[in-house]
Amino acid sequence: MMAIDRVDRPVYQPRGELRHDEPMARHTSWRVGGPADCLFMPADRDDLAAFLAELPPREPLTWVGLGSNLLVRDGGIRGVVIATHRCLGRIELRAERRVYAEAGVPGAKLARFSVRHDLRGAEFFAGIPGTLGGALAMNAGAFGGETWQVVRCVETLDRRGRIRSRPVADYESGYRKVAGPTGEWFIAAELALTPGDGAVGQRQIKELLSRRAHSQPIQIPNAGSVFRNPPGDHAARLIEASGLKGVCRGAACVSERHANFIVNRGGARAQDIEQLIGQIEEVVQDRQGVRLEREVHIIGAAP
Ligand SMILES: Cc1cc2nc3c(=O)[nH]c(=O)nc-3n(C[C@H](O)[C@H](O)[C@H](O)COP(=O)(O)OP(=O)(O)OC[C@H]3O[C@@H](n4cnc5c(N)ncnc54)[C@H](O)[C@@H]3O)c2cc1C
Repeated sequence: MMAIDRVDRPVYQPRGELRHDEPMARHTSWRVGGPADCLFMPADRDDLAAFLAELPPREPLTWVGLGSNLLVRDGGIRGVVIATHRCLGRIELRAERRVYAEAGVPGAKLARFSVRHDLRGAEFFAGIPGTLGGALAMNAGAFGGETWQVVRCVETLDRRGRIRSRPVADYESGYRKVAGPTGEWFIAAELALTPGDGAVGQRQIKELLSRRAHSQPIQIPNAGSVFRNPPGDHAARLIEASGLKGVCRGAACVSERHANFIVNRGGARAQDIEQLIGQIEEVVQDRQGVRLEREVHIIGAAP
């Protein structure tokens, strides 16, 4: 199959899988989202680089990991979506204390791999249900750990298929945000970890997971915290204090267990979730005088 049907010249024949009109609901943890015009699951990084090099310069491009921080609107995504999960999955021990992982490696695997090699510092990734690429883009963190605290360098790919190695100094990271070179996406990172007792790390992972199971509605489709915590406060506290726990739009509801989570009770549309997000913002602003900032990324076209 040709990479893009509209291209009037010989195009690269990818080794990976190319799906047309692919429902994004299959690729997001909220289980909502309309179709992507084209979704590419590369066989490996070379396949991806060659595919991108052939892509028309104006073709819209979106990268998705596990879709655990994404609300894709019901009208879907125009252009090409690159899916890294199950595609860029290499993980290996490099020099002493260093773990090299590609962007599609899930956080849980990264945490387990590191403690198995008696390396500490990556345990917090265990409870973040996304890929390393998503964690790099979001500076994901939990229980005191943050992605960019353990990154030593990254590898990126641009839309002409060029791979670069970049030091941490090329990026500025803060609470759930990262700024750096534009027009590039993460394909891998090298983490610098601390030698330690892997058995202690395993126990820490178990404890983190059990704390999450008690405090988060992990059995029902959700996308984690919808809003960033404002300085010195918690979005969940503000939402709960505004009387919004349990409030629904269609099948999208503010979780009873964790007020900063919106759950899809089954059959919610992206539109329901987006409207509920807007309602929360308005009510919290009105009753608490705080403008909440969104942590989830909302992308795609309205239906
Ligand atoms: C139950 C639950 C608990 C959660 N707990 C936490 C938590 O404790 N801490 C936390 O920080 N987050 C948490 N999250 C949110 C989410 O898991 C993280 O933000 C995660 O890092 C997103 O990774 P992802 O692969 O799913 O990214 P996606 O949701 O697929 O993408 C997120 C953003 O990153 C971009 N992106 C993805 N891959 C790449 C790439 N390779 N290069 C460049 N950009 C890319 C996407 O375009 C998008 O803008 C939670 C989510 C859920 C569902």
